[in-house]
Amino acid sequence: MVEAIEGSAIRKVRLGKSDLLVSNIALGTLPFASYRDNKNNFSELVSYAYSLGINLFDTAEIYDNYKLLGESLRGLDDIFVITKSYAVDEKDVDRSLLKAKRLMSRDVDIFMLHEQESILTMKGHLKALEYMYKLKEKGDIKAVGISTHRVSGVRGALTFLELIDIVMAIVNYAGLGIYDGDRDEMESALLDCYNANLGIIGMKIFGGGHLTRAIDRAIGYARSLSFVHTFLLGVETVEELKLDISLFSGLQVEEGLLESSKRKTRRIEIEPWCTGCGICVDRCGQGALILVNGKVEVAFDRCVLCSYCAQVCPDFSIRVV
Ligand code: SF4
Ligand code: SF4
Repeated sequence: MVEAIEGSAIRKVRLGKSDLLVSNIALGTLPFASYRDNKNNFSELVSYAYSLGINLFDTAEIYDNYKLLGESLRGLDDIFVITKSYAVDEKDVDRSLLKAKRLMSRDVDIFMLHEQESILTMKGHLKALEYMYKLKEKGDIKAVGISTHRVSGVRGALTFLELIDIVMAIVNYAGLGIYDGDRDEMESALLDCYNANLGIIGMKIFGGGHLTRAIDRAIGYARSLSFVHTFLLGVETVEELKLDISLFSGLQVEEGLLESSKRKTRRIEIEPWCTGCGICVDRCGQGALILVNGKVEVAFDRCVLCSYCAQVCPDFSIRVV
């Protein structure tokens, strides 16, 4: 086990208008989605994160890792779990929540609508949103949120302030993965949400892996965003978490550590048996997949490694390697 971090800047913050006191760094579990080839020790990572004061853990229905997360969190006190679903109505919400609770053997604290694009998308999910709000009123969940890769998604949340507590959105210094705008437009939209007392969660501060070679800059940018309550870190090892927290805390890191800790650069790989059906191309909100002569090609500079495409391929032709 890696030792504690002296001078760590991890602290608890109130997440907007919710009652939740969460750590200003949260552990993202996308790297441990069932369809990733990660074989690292997730439980060890969760224990280490918890020992550092991290009490917020993020997953999603499509990551398909509820059981793994539930087992790793067993016995930990004062923690909060976020999950996300594509529910459009009451029935979907009930089904999603029940599945999450059953597989994790614990409650869901923050329930979010996944990948909301705009006011229109949210209007299409209004029944689900209103029902989620009712569940919160009843005490079944603690907060309602949305996640989005779009400025228009963040702005959409401002239209539903009475229903939504928390917005999770892409923030990184290069604006990578922001589908419909740049980093300044995203900052401005998030600041408006912050001023409206919404809880703000920043995700993809490393741009889906593209910015890990400038990790100190990526974390430095995140630290400068005072309107973001907490940042998701989707790390794979305790060593990576230790380095990120040290940088986030403004601590001197050992010489050479930055260099030697270079993360495995991940990318999407298309298997030769791809049939060219195009389902993944339609699914990719980043425009990173293109059909060329009946096969899919990846525009790596646009890919944020969200893995959504791998989820929909009927032939398991897409892998994150
Ligand atoms: S190619 Fe796949 S992993 Fe990359 S951005 Fe598109 S959906 Fe996400
Ligand atoms: S969904 Fe799968 S099989 Fe279809 S085009 Fe994409 S990679 Fe190929």
